[in-house]
This record gives sequence, structure tokens and C-alpha cells, in this order.
Amino acid sequence: MDYPGLDEKNRLIIVSNRVPYNITRIRNELVYKKSVGGLVTALDPILRKTGGLWIGWSGFARNSRFVEKKVNVPRENNDSYELKLVNLSHDEIIDYYGGFSNRTIWPLFHGFIFQSYFDATYWRSYQKTNRKFANEVLQEATEDDIIWVHDYHLALVPGILRNKNDKLKILYFLHIPFPNYETFRVLPWASKVIEGILGSNLIGFQTRRDAINFLACCKEILGLEVDFYKFIVKFHNRFIHVINIPISIDYNHFFNYANKQETIKLENRIKKSLKNIKVVLSVERLDYTKGIKERIRAIDYFFETYPKYKGKIIFLQIVVPSRSKVEEYITFKEEIDEMIGKINGKYSHEMWSPITYIYKSLSQEKLISYYKVSDICLITSLRDGMNLIAKEYVACKIGGSGVLILSKFAGAVEEMKERAVLINPYYIEEIANKVKLALEFDENEKVQNMIALQEQVKQNDVFKWCKSFLNYFYLNQI
Ligand code: UDP
Repeated sequence: MDYPGLDEKNRLIIVSNRVPYNITRIRNELVYKKSVGGLVTALDPILRKTGGLWIGWSGFARNSRFVEKKVNVPRENNDSYELKLVNLSHDEIIDYYGGFSNRTIWPLFHGFIFQSYFDATYWRSYQKTNRKFANEVLQEATEDDIIWVHDYHLALVPGILRNKNDKLKILYFLHIPFPNYETFRVLPWASKVIEGILGSNLIGFQTRRDAINFLACCKEILGLEVDFYKFIVKFHNRFIHVINIPISIDYNHFFNYANKQETIKLENRIKKSLKNIKVVLSVERLDYTKGIKERIRAIDYFFETYPKYKGKIIFLQIVVPSRSKVEEYITFKEEIDEMIGKINGKYSHEMWSPITYIYKSLSQEKLISYYKVSDICLITSLRDGMNLIAKEYVACKIGGSGVLILSKFAGAVEEMKERAVLINPYYIEEIANKVKLALEFDENEKVQNMIALQEQVKQNDVFKWCKSFLNYFYLNQI
């Protein structure tokens, strides 16, 4: 694959909160393991091919015994690129990461105003840490490089870079939703955050709605001139382009993995143990934005209303531990544990329980086998930037028998709405009724819908996302 304009002189510099490798210390040696996920999958090959640089937090606290600043990855390979590691202090981890990023921006941008903390200490730390990341970039970048900043942790970085050098080429992509004006303006530092993002030449959002929300905030909060047809905003005499371009998955990777002998073996083992019981699968990080409580209430309503399904189906609930040091997440975990316990206590019969609850991170092989054996994938996000589980499920449904039930409030709905079953996750009765409907779908209809969804995801994979974003920048000579 070609990447126009990128080479060793014109590097791609990625800046994100975390570097794309998990670094652990085993005895006295540091071990680097590549993270899984769409972003890393898309960007890793470009950086390897064109010799780029990735700047991000190592995951360690500054005063740990961790010393390396720059490393080449993959370590065993010639075809490698550089990681520049930013170490955060204990306070920065608490206030910038756990605080402003995950207790202010994360809830607010997902529309959870009453769960957002507006704390001046968090804000000061966010500004300071964004300056720290920006300084690391400034030590490296030239005007020939393309600097691509990612996500909500680093919204001020483009502005800081722009103030230092007007000629830098800066791109920004927000992976989570951008809220509407009424929600966004609640943030006491709303104008500073927008000004920060506007340091970029090109700004990308997951959906058209996110892009429009951002442009509306530029107009309403900063009084800027905005072209809502061309998606361009004028700021300090620069014309900044805004696009919506949904992130995706490496379709072929999931499809091929689903076809592997080992996966098929595991799938058959799981199927045998299920003894014809149907499976409704949900997978997500432990997060209040994913609608887990609403789903558990819907399961209660489902068995109450349709008791004939007792013993015939199970809801397989896979929850991946996440942000386990942030207070809201600790309480949330306790609440869902209790809710699941109650439902299982209420409906379990002989050896059958309505909810099978797995609280851990799974291997790809296990995850893909679960996708394959599931009759329905139930996604109930109250708000979601994209939701890659929807796309991964579709990619793994070889043969096409399976139904995707998707929240209207997940970014993925923009591309998948024609062929998925849509629900409002706040409407418990609707979730339950749509599950029943999906269980009774005609087989041909299921297959037709799934094949159409597969084609959609296949044609719009993560490589296309990345290429389209970079190409937009080149072709428009921004
Ligand atoms: N995932 C994982 N381990 C697991 C289960 C899921 O790494 O045990 C991955 C899954 O493959 C998917 C991601 O977690 O790529 C979830 O992405 P999504 O966009 O749905 O939600 P996010 O966690 O980014 O909010």
C-alpha cells in the first residue's frame, strides 16, 4: 500500500495518550507487546514502512525504575519505527488521566453531564500534561512531518503546537462523540478546548453529527465563521477543514481468524457444551456508557414477559475490566455484579442460568469463537463514539447466520442502520421485544442482512479509514 508524501524525511508522527505497546518489566528486562485494536493495526504498518515516530505515555509512573526514552519497535525487526515514551508523574496520572480525561471529558462528551466533574486541579493538570506531550513533539517535528494527534486526552496539543510554529502540519482525530452545544457549553473551559483542537489543519470525527456539533460550538462559543456545507471553519485567518470518517476494523484479520482451525475447534467445543441453547452476546469494557444496567433490566423483563425462553437461551455477558482505579467504575462494577446476581438468583433453574457473566479480558481466539456461536449480538450503548464490537461480530459471522441488535446511539449506526435491528437502549421493553423478534427471524432474512453488513464493513475497513484521512489532507492541499 502506498502512502503519498510519507518517507524518512516527511515522517508521520502519531501522538496519543498511550504508545501502541504494552510495556512490562519482567525481572530486569522490559518486554514490549503490541496492543490489539484498530488504531494500532492501521498505523503500525504505515509507520514501519515509512519509518515514523509514535509519541505516548509508557504506562509507567515517572519515578518508577523505568528509564528508556526512545526505543525501536518491533524489536526483533529491521522494518521498525521509533516509540518516544512520555512518563507521567503520580499526580498527572490521577488528575490528567483519571481526572480531566476520564471524569470530565469522557462523561461530558458522552452526554453524562451529571456524572462530569469540573475540578480546577484536574484542568490545570490537563493543561500541563498537554504541554508536556506537545514539548516532546516539538523536540522531534519539522515542518515536513505530518503530526497526527489522537483523541480526547490531548485536545490542547494542536493549539500548543500551532502557537509555536504556524507552518506545522497538524491533524487531529476524536475517537469519542462530540456533544451538542447545550451539553458542551457546560464545560467551564469549553472555549479553551475548542481553541486547542482548532490548532489543527484537519479535524476528523466519527460521524456527521459529531462534526456538525463541533462546527456549531465553534460558531456559538467562539463566534467563528463556519461553512456548514463545506465543513470549514475560519480561525486566526486559517481555514480548518472538518470531516467525518468512521473508524473500523481489520476485516480480513477477523474473517481469517474466524476461519482458522483452532478457532473452529474451540467454537465446536463451546457449541457442544451449549446443547442447542441459543446465545445472545454482549461484549464491552466495564463502562457506564455501554448501557449494561439497562440491558440487565431488559433481560429481567424478557424472561418475565416471555417465560417460554427459560432454559432455551442465555445472555452471555463479557465485561472487560477498565479504569479500575476511577471511583465511578469501582461502584459501577459492584452495582452490576449485584444486579446480575439477583437475576440469576430469580430465574436459574436446574443447571441453567439466564446470564453467563465473564469479567476478564479474552484472547482473540476465545472472543472470535464467542462471536461465532452467538445467535444475536446485543449492543445497548447509551452513547458510543463508534462501537467496534458491532463490526467485529459481523466480520466473524461466516455463513451469515446471526443478528446484530444495535443501539441508535452508537456511531456505528450511521453505516449499519439499514441491516441491523435498532433499539433505543433507554427503552427496556423495546430491547426485550427486539431480542424476541430477532430470535424468531426467518433464516434467509438473517443471512441476507448479515451478508450486506459484511460487505459494508469489508469495503470500509480500518486501512481505508486511515488512507482516506491522510489522502483528504494531501488532495485538498490543506
Ligand atoms: N476486546 C478486547 N478484549 C476482550 C474483549 C474485547 O480487546 O476481551 C476489544 C474488542 O476486540 C474491540 C474493543 O475491545 O476491538 C472494544 O472496542 P469498542 O469500540 O467496541 O469500545 P471501546 O472499548 O473502544 O469503548
